[in-house]
Amino acid sequence: MHLDAKLSVLALATFVGAVGHAAEVTTPTTKTFGLVIHGGAGVIERKTMSAEVEAQYRVALTQSRDAGYAILDEGGTALDAVIAAIKILEDFPLFNAGKGAVLTADGTCELDASIMDGRTQAAGAVAGIRQIKNPITLARAVMEKSEHVMLTGDGAERFAKQQGYELVGNEYFQTEFRRKQLEAAKKREAAKPTSALSVPGVFPVALADQDHFTRTARYGTVGCVALDKSGNLAAGTSTGGMTNKKFGRVGDAPIIGAGTYANNATCAVSATGWGEYFIRVGVARDIAAQMEYKGSRVTDAAKVTLAKVSALGGDGGVICIDKDGNVALPFNSAGMYRGYKLSTGAATIEIFGPR
Ligand code: ASP
Repeated sequence: MHLDAKLSVLALATFVGAVGHAAEVTTPTTKTFGLVIHGGAGVIERKTMSAEVEAQYRVALTQSRDAGYAILDEGGTALDAVIAAIKILEDFPLFNAGKGAVLTADGTCELDASIMDGRTQAAGAVAGIRQIKNPITLARAVMEKSEHVMLTGDGAERFAKQQGYELVGNEYFQTEFRRKQLEAAKKREAAKPTSALSVPGVFPVALADQDHFTRTARYGTVGCVALDKSGNLAAGTSTGGMTNKKFGRVGDAPIIGAGTYANNATCAVSATGWGEYFIRVGVARDIAAQMEYKGSRVTDAAKVTLAKVSALGGDGGVICIDKDGNVALPFNSAGMYRGYKLSTGAATIEIFGPR
């Protein structure tokens, strides 16, 4: 068998194992390319989602995935595909990124995003920005047009202005749905004794309730990982963070190595979940490091890393694609908005978990 064909068969076998169900495929003839997207992980359950809302999510995810795939199919770069797929999700108010992002304790939206080019290991990130319609595009500008990797808040927006970005008012991002979520979060917080917060290393009972809310009211971060026809990988992630976040809180999404990572030698990863835990595990880089140092397969590496998040008490998921087109989409939450499309013909959009 031709080497490329062998790789593609391997890619297919791994991908089927990773997601736990089979899909229609065609026999691959050329080197595999494709992409994986996510729209956040969390308490996403069939019993609480109407058919209408589910249909809206499916439309958004399909549009995003297909726009990114079309770029790859036409010979475009993984970076361009990642940007195109994420921009679409940022514009859909359903997701916790761009328009429709969750609200901070002050009732505003503060957005985080990052991108990484697996070919050069160049990376760009923005955190706590309030006025840029598509944060992922500013992350790319930081990577390509500045000498830095991460810019935050006002400084990031001054840079954006310099680059010719039009700023939008923060109201553009805010929705009624997120306002209600914030109100609910504040009520729960008010009912919780503050002393519970001061016991380091212990998860007090009072926090367990808050914990449940944090798990349920956060989902919707978006991300994309892509492998192009030239064998280049890229990863990007964009989010509003967590409902009721305070004090300029920044999650894992804009942190290279935690929420986002790409290296042509191994894989591209975008994460979603309770960011504090994903930062502590260094999730995205941990997956790539297992492949680099141990020769692990991407599915195994992703599972091992996610188990570390679980062991600490965190929840969420990752999407990964490796240099040969193997994909893995594990999550330890109830559901994760997700989809992929590969040149092998494999394609899907999924929302709920097996449980
Ligand atoms: N990881 C994001 C954060 O902590 C939130 C999420 O993915 O749901 O900011």
